[in-house]
Amino acid sequence: MTQTELIPKRLDGRIAVITGGNSGIGLATAHRFVQEGAYVYITGRRQGELDKAVQQIGRNAMAVQDDVSNLADLDRLYDTVKQQKGRIDILFANAGVFEFAPVGSITESHFDKIFNINVKGLLFTVLKALPLFQDGGSIILTASIGGSKGFEGVSVYAATKAAIRSFARSWTVDLKNRKIRVNAVSPGAISTPMASSTGMGLSTEQFEQLKTSLVNAVPLGRMGYPEEIAQAVSFLASHDSSYITGIELFVDGGIAQI
Ligand code: NAD
Repeated sequence: MTQTELIPKRLDGRIAVITGGNSGIGLATAHRFVQEGAYVYITGRRQGELDKAVQQIGRNAMAVQDDVSNLADLDRLYDTVKQQKGRIDILFANAGVFEFAPVGSITESHFDKIFNINVKGLLFTVLKALPLFQDGGSIILTASIGGSKGFEGVSVYAATKAAIRSFARSWTVDLKNRKIRVNAVSPGAISTPMASSTGMGLSTEQFEQLKTSLVNAVPLGRMGYPEEIAQAVSFLASHDSSYITGIELFVDGGIAQI
């Protein structure tokens, strides 16, 4: 039996939107959703990367280029979905950026950039999708272990992720009458372009040092794969999690649990 045959078809016929779907966790989740039977719209900043991602996914995927912090881009995204499919069943609000900024070197532009994309962008990604949701949909927000742990030099990024975790709690209540479930997924250290020396703005040596110290603190003793987040997200998207809402699901090899 091949791996594809083992994957359940829990998302048959569902329409899904994944922001930041051309890379890393978002791309792995787009693959997984399609394997489970969904049609996915992926978004991201770079058209070339989006085109490559659609090719890789191979079927039932369409790309819409956007910047989630630009509300007109979000309107264009949801207009496209409305015209083509008329509804959304699953939203994975996942786009985000990371930058180091030790306390002494935090600037206004660092704060504005990270909060605009990670918090304002995610907020309006969800709000503008709501008119297209039918009762009973699932919204999953990408938070991070950084939202509940203290790591050196990333306080502003961590604060954006704590805000996202808080959104999941509040929207669970705000959307209860529409039976829309809202959950956060919190990845630990996952091998993606963001968690690389280039993505973190570190030299190869600095990155390897950081990786070794992180991995030593992870009970499962390694970084995670984007596919391992995708598995958790498709569980939260599917009926298998029908009585789960408002949670933060850590997929972190145990690092935030000890
Ligand atoms: P990645 O860099 O591979 O992917 C980030 C995605 O977000 C890309 O598709 C990019 O195009 C998109 N994006 C960034 N800014 C955008 C914007 N303004 N508008 C639209 N799209 C934008 O990184 P990843 O690791 O897959 O990150 C995905 C999410 O997971 C992020 O929210 C990140 O904070 C979170 N996360 C990652 C890790 C990790 O270790 N990789 C850990 C915890 C949380």
